[in-house]
Amino acid sequence: MSIEAPRGGCADPRERGLLLAPEFPDAYRHVMRAIRVAAAVLTAGLSAALPLGAQTTAFVGATLWDGTGAPAVQHATLVVQDGRVVSVGTAPAPEGSTVVDVSGRWLIPGLVNAHAHVTGYWARDEITDTLARIEGDLLLYARYGVTTVNSLGDEPSQAKWARDVQDTPTLTRARLHFAGPVITATTPEDAVAAVDANADFGVDWIKIRVDDNLGTVQKLPWPVVIAVIKEAHARGLRVATHLFYLDDATRLLRMGSDLVAHSVRDADVDGELVSLLKERDVCYVPTLVREESTFVYGRRPPFFDDSFFVKYAKATEAARLSNPTFMRRTATSPDGTRYRAALAQAQKNLKALEDAGVRIAMGTDSGPAGRFPGYFEHRELQLMVDAGLSPGQALMSATSVAASCLRLDDVGTLTADRWADFLVLRSDPLADVANTRSLDAVYVAGNQVR
Ligand SMILES: [Zn+2]
Repeated sequence: MSIEAPRGGCADPRERGLLLAPEFPDAYRHVMRAIRVAAAVLTAGLSAALPLGAQTTAFVGATLWDGTGAPAVQHATLVVQDGRVVSVGTAPAPEGSTVVDVSGRWLIPGLVNAHAHVTGYWARDEITDTLARIEGDLLLYARYGVTTVNSLGDEPSQAKWARDVQDTPTLTRARLHFAGPVITATTPEDAVAAVDANADFGVDWIKIRVDDNLGTVQKLPWPVVIAVIKEAHARGLRVATHLFYLDDATRLLRMGSDLVAHSVRDADVDGELVSLLKERDVCYVPTLVREESTFVYGRRPPFFDDSFFVKYAKATEAARLSNPTFMRRTATSPDGTRYRAALAQAQKNLKALEDAGVRIAMGTDSGPAGRFPGYFEHRELQLMVDAGLSPGQALMSATSVAASCLRLDDVGTLTADRWADFLVLRSDPLADVANTRSLDAVYVAGNQVR
């Protein structure tokens, strides 16, 4: 099947054609074999993917911003062992450690994306094994500096196997958490069964969509929403909600939604919404670049010629999106015009919520066709700053805040005991957020993946 333009919903139903029916290898051996195949295919040509093992490595001389909100430390020493941060400070490299001179560079934590998707789409031309395709998506994210991906729904079921083997110092791709099939039941009884099936399978989140896709489809019925949230909470799972309208956001928060997975895009956020988000300590994920992806391909976007994009982006996908017929259809789509207005509304709301002290977690909805994994995250940071956030606020939302929103306590900051997932930049990202693109190197668990 052919994949059309991305549309209003966070994952177009047509993307389901990419997904395989649940089929779980029962032999762990099979998983490890697939991962070895993926690693061999995907790291071919990679200059230095050297697992550190038990050796100690000290990255010295850079300015280090640890993601906690503390000021950056100049001439820092970052000590890494067994994939984790041992210490950050200004002491000399420990005796006997391998020293990596990163003088003049900036070190920041790897980016955490609170709303992305792992579809297997990006490596599907080169790789047939589904688990290896997932690993391919995750390597792509990592090469752009996105080292943790929260996939909010409809992944191939093999995502579970990728997640279950990633707590290792030899990891060389992004970390994955996932929501499983999005709940689309029509009755509360079916909803409970669907939540139970996901919970039994071992998902990290339950995902629902409450949206009429600009008036084209029926929203998920409210009795179903109530049943999903109740059952998810009973099973110890949190519910991430796709939404569009302010009224729905308010109602969903009152019902117990645990993550607002997109911007409110129809109206200015109000005091009631702010109070609910803060009282319930619910994080808000803007996904601004998702709006942009609905209209940006009306002409050939300038970023198709950005060397940072070109280095790892799928060239055949850029070619597909540059097809004149495709561009003409996108340019004349009324949905594109509406989502362009929705982006402006979303940016206004983001600034209001940040100023009000709501926790903002960076998310992009990248992963489906037309939404380039890894690159879109850098674009999202720029759109957040364009909305009025400081580069520091945008970077906090993409590191420690996103991690805490996902309740991950081993990523998101460069502090002792966390995984050594970090970026080496040539320029100061706090001075200009576009400098996240001056990406020299990416490390996952201390292993260089770019
Ligand atoms: Zn999504």
